[in-house]
Amino acid sequence: MAGKTLMSVHELSFAYGRRTILHEISLNLRGGRLRGLLGPNGSGKTTLFKCCLGFLKVARGQIELEGRSIAEYSPRELAARVAYVPQEHRPAFPYTVREMVEMGRTPHRGAIPALSKADHRAVDQALARLNLTALANENYNHLSGGQRQLVLVARALAQEAALLFLDEPTSSLDFSNQLIVWEAVQSIAREGLGAIICCHDPNHILWFCDEAAAIKDGRILAEGPAREIITRGLLEELYDRPIQTADLNGRSFIYPLTSPREANDA
Ligand code: ADP
Repeated sequence: MAGKTLMSVHELSFAYGRRTILHEISLNLRGGRLRGLLGPNGSGKTTLFKCCLGFLKVARGQIELEGRSIAEYSPRELAARVAYVPQEHRPAFPYTVREMVEMGRTPHRGAIPALSKADHRAVDQALARLNLTALANENYNHLSGGQRQLVLVARALAQEAALLFLDEPTSSLDFSNQLIVWEAVQSIAREGLGAIICCHDPNHILWFCDEAAAIKDGRILAEGPAREIITRGLLEELYDRPIQTADLNGRSFIYPLTSPREANDA
């Protein structure tokens, strides 16, 4: 079920210096909804995320979080409501899984270094939610790529943000781990959080996302229910190459036409 609008982006334009990267982007991100963001490299997805997360200052257009312009939020207030899940990475320091998840509590903590009862509770719940409790004392860097990515999702949950921004969280994972992370994110969104996930595989967006948005050259080409907008026509426009769709057992699939003959026959 779609919840209320958490973030609304209205006619957002953004330039690095004189070069305009985003052109009048409008999007609504709602609770209980997983939205996929698809677009070629360099189309402006990361820039859009950075604007929504308050990392970049927006000069034209508006971004509102829960009815208030993000420009009015302090960085700490914003971090308590929106969370960023990066591509998996390995910190130089050998943090445990629990320590990694505890970092999500930073926006909620005062000057006292010790974690409060509420902090511990949020960390425990986030670990349990992603089936990581048994790994809590393991060295984060020794986990598999898929487990590390789940830890980063758990860190975002411990943050107790309303809206998650996930930047290609499955790009370096094997087939099975990709599905595990997608299933976890999908079920978290079903519990009421809003989430937007940047992803290069249109099949994953079709299979797991409620909604999608496609961006090219800094412009939204299409947005709406994932199954309605991820079409052959849209993908060919996005990627300038012949693509075909098929349905099997109630699922839609996207695949490339790899030879000129296949493309002619399509
Ligand atoms: P995507 O995430 O879709 O690959 P980006 O938002 O990273 O796209 O980049 C969009 C465009 O903005 C690209 O042409 C990129 O070169 C440019 N760009 C990204 N970061 C900067 C920056 N800090 N300064 C100038 N140009 C940038």
